[in-house]
Amino acid sequence: MSSDEKLISSSRVAEAISRITSHTDRDLFDSGFAELLLDLLNIDQIKLYKVLYEYNQPEYYCMLDFSNDKRVVYGADQSPPKVHDKQRIAAFDDCLTGKCTTFTSIKQNDTAMLYPVFNYLDQITSIFCVRNFETAPDNDQPLISSLFTIYRNHLHLIDKTEHDTLTGLLNRRTFDRDLCKILTQSHQVSDPSLLTNNNKPRRRRNSSDKKGNWLAVIDIDFFKHINDKYGHLYGDEVLLLLSNIMRKTFRTYDKMFRFGGEEFVVILRTTNQTDARLILERFRKNIEEFAFPQVGNVTVSIGYVEITNQAIPAEILGHADNALYYAKKHGRNQLANFEKLVAEGKISPAKAITPSEVELF
Ligand code: GH3
Ligand code: MG
Ligand code: MG
Repeated sequence: MSSDEKLISSSRVAEAISRITSHTDRDLFDSGFAELLLDLLNIDQIKLYKVLYEYNQPEYYCMLDFSNDKRVVYGADQSPPKVHDKQRIAAFDDCLTGKCTTFTSIKQNDTAMLYPVFNYLDQITSIFCVRNFETAPDNDQPLISSLFTIYRNHLHLIDKTEHDTLTGLLNRRTFDRDLCKILTQSHQVSDPSLLTNNNKPRRRRNSSDKKGNWLAVIDIDFFKHINDKYGHLYGDEVLLLLSNIMRKTFRTYDKMFRFGGEEFVVILRTTNQTDARLILERFRKNIEEFAFPQVGNVTVSIGYVEITNQAIPAEILGHADNALYYAKKHGRNQLANFEKLVAEGKISPAKAITPSEVELF
C-alpha cells in the first residue's frame, strides 16, 4: 500500500470515528457503528442482537440488520424478531458464557464473528454478529478489534449518562427522549394491517386486546416515614431493592426509569390493556409481599395510561399522574387506570392536569 493510500484510509477511519462518537443516543450510536463497519471493512452483513432474559433464560432479538443493500432497524412499533434457530442460539449462548469474541461457522466459507457488548455493570446486553468475516483481509483484524474497543469505550460513556447511579435504571433525561421517540415512531404506521384501502390509518377500536404502549408512574407509599424512622441509608436500600424487583417483574424490552426520589416510571411495550393491568398488579403484589430488611413491608401506588400518538409527552405523564393521585387518595397500595377513571366519571378529563401544571406526585 502506498503512503498516499494509507493516508486516505487513515483519514477515512478518523472521519468515521469522529462521526459516530458525536452520538449521545444509544440507538443512533449502534446504527452509526454498524454503518461504519460496513463502510470501512470488507464484510457482507452486520446484525445486532439484544439479549433479553425470560425466566432466567437468555433469548436473542434482532435489533438491527445491515448489509450492503439493506438497512433494517427495529423500532418501537415493530417488535424485534426473536431468534429460533437452535444452531444460532447455541452459538450466542457460547458467546455469553465465554464472555469473549467467538467465531461460528454458519455454512462453508461463511463465518460469523460474535462480539459481546457489555454494559457499564459488566453484563452482556447485546451481541454483534459480523458476516462474512472470512473475506475480510487479515490486515483488517487489528482495525476491527480497535474499532470494537472504541465502540465499547464510547458506549460506557453513553450508558453512564443514561442511567441513574443508585438503581442502575434509566434516568429522567433518558425518559424524555425515549417517550418522544416512541411517539414519533408510532406516528409512522409500520403495520400494513392498520392501513385502509386508501392507505389512511384505520381508527382502531378501543378494545382490551389492542396492543399498545403503556406508561405507569409508580410511587412508594409513605416513603418519608421510612426515611424518618430508619434513616436515609435504609431508604436508599429500599429504592435499590425495589428497582431489582422491577427488573425481575417487567420484561427487559420494557423500559424502566427512576424518575427522581421515590418515583419510578415503566413503559410497557406492545401489550394490551388486560395484560398491562395484570403485569402492574403482579408488580404491586411482589412489592407488598417482599420483606425489606429492617423496614419490613413497603407498598406502592401506581397510575397508568395508554401512550396514544395524539398526546404530547407532558399530557401522557399528567394523565398517569392524575390516576396515581386518585390511587393515593383512595387508600394507596393499588393501581388506577386513567382511561377507566374517566370512563367511570371518577376523573374529569377537563380537570386532568394540563402540561404546564405537570408535577409528579
Ligand atoms: P405518599 O404515600 O403520599 O407518596 O407519601 P411519601 O411520604 O412517600 O411522599 P413524599 O413525597 O411526601 O415523600 C417522599 C420522600 O422521599 C421525601 C424525601 O425525603 C425522600 N427521598 C427523595 N429522594 C430520596 C433518595 O434518593 N433517597 C432517600 N433515602 N430518600 C429520598
Ligand atoms: Mg411517595
Ligand atoms: Mg413522591
